[in-house]
Amino acid sequence: MSVLDYESVIGLEVHVELKTPQKLFCDCSTTFGAPPNTQVCPVCLAMPGTLPLLNRECVEYAVRAGLALHCDIAPSSRFDRKNYFYPDLPKAYQVTQNFAPICTGGYVDVATENGMRRIRITRIHLEEDAGKLIHHDDHSLVDCNRCGVPLIEIVTEPDIRSSEEAVAFLRKLRAVVRYTDVSDGKMNEGSLRCDVNLSIRKKGETTFGQRVEMKNINSFNFVARAIESEFKRQVAILEEGGTIIQETRRFDEKTGETSALRKKESAADYRYFPDPDIGEVLVNKETIARILASMPRLPDERKAMYKDTYELSDYEAERLTADKDLSDFFEEAVKETSYPKTLVNLILTDLSPLFGEDETEVPLSPISLGALADLLGKDIINSNTGRKVLKVMLEEDQDPVAYVEENNLAQINDPEVLQSIIDATVNSNARAVNDYRRGRTPALRALMGNVMRETQGRANPILAEEMLKATIAKNA
Ligand code: ADP
Ligand code: MG
Ligand code: ZN
Repeated sequence: MSVLDYESVIGLEVHVELKTPQKLFCDCSTTFGAPPNTQVCPVCLAMPGTLPLLNRECVEYAVRAGLALHCDIAPSSRFDRKNYFYPDLPKAYQVTQNFAPICTGGYVDVATENGMRRIRITRIHLEEDAGKLIHHDDHSLVDCNRCGVPLIEIVTEPDIRSSEEAVAFLRKLRAVVRYTDVSDGKMNEGSLRCDVNLSIRKKGETTFGQRVEMKNINSFNFVARAIESEFKRQVAILEEGGTIIQETRRFDEKTGETSALRKKESAADYRYFPDPDIGEVLVNKETIARILASMPRLPDERKAMYKDTYELSDYEAERLTADKDLSDFFEEAVKETSYPKTLVNLILTDLSPLFGEDETEVPLSPISLGALADLLGKDIINSNTGRKVLKVMLEEDQDPVAYVEENNLAQINDPEVLQSIIDATVNSNARAVNDYRRGRTPALRALMGNVMRETQGRANPILAEEMLKATIAKNA
């Protein structure tokens, strides 16, 4: 037996910080990065005698996320107290929705190597965030700015089967919360973080194994690495005849491995009970209708349109729509060109390495990228020159059409011009020509290299290669 005989079974719990300007139960600001303990008040500091007052805007944000994720919205939901002690939690309980969450059901469709996969969402609940501990060498400090910041927690069914699917799910989820303006979805600022639950089983089995939970992973890359390393660890244990114990593990970004943190706590440990200070959360049909009516075009809708209109693959359309800025950029640029496929290649192959994990700001104008796609599509320049021009455009915002003209970079498509260069090449490289005739195909590359050198890289490569072969055959 080997890793190939096993599959992982993964369920995610994703915490998404809402973009509301105010906290869940008080008026304090939620702005990220303020000096410690400057965005606090008696309510979020849990002073005795204070009472929480639910901020309706947070409820509407949660409903908007739920609708965009195809969930059922509960007409009535409730808040509960989850009791535990930790220095970043002044109340010694977190207000969350355990028994009656605001959204249930729902799903996210993701494109993977094995085609489309539907990941079901079990529930979404509203809850408040805790504060933050800042660790120093011999002491730790508490920053309560984040106490009471509104979150939604999105819990999936154990439908995910690989790190690739987990990341595709998270990308899609982040796209949805960003498109709907529910959250900025920035993983590096903690506005989107994820607990990974993972068990393994032999392929073909239908029951689930014992799961391990890895908490608070805050980058796509770490999620993928945590899954891969935990999968291997569990396989090794079972292969040696051991058993997996249910526990909470920590993923270490430096070693790429997980280590045991604590035995997993069970629901009973938290002594959940309904919060007597907060009333029922009611959401009526009118509210749902109003939110639905204000819903923007979502990634899946754009995706379907791109596939139809521009004949893009699932994968291409998914990549382009994973980020609203990128998708907006594409829609601007595609107006400028009759070669959408070429444009997509430029974006996904040449530009995507420049994107950060949380930002996909494209460092040039959509108009000029569209123009570059046209130059390539119309065979005015070859792909070699295209890459050079793109480099210049990124450095100094050049208009590609003017640049190609001024620098005489247009591709040589004229057979007469090409023929004279090819003849000269064939005549002066007898050895390579003979090698090629004797079946050494790499010799052709050397000859093409010569043609390209003689034309400063401007020869139409397909035409030139055809003519080169024909010339060699003719003179044989
Ligand atoms: P808890 O709140 O204790 O973490 P839940 O029952 O709410 O437990 O499940 C949390 C997550 O664990 C869900 O995303 C669920 O899909 C996932 N999960 C449950 N059982 C398994 C399993 N056997 N293997 C992998 N994931 C699982
Ligand atoms: Mg959990
Ligand atoms: Zn406050």
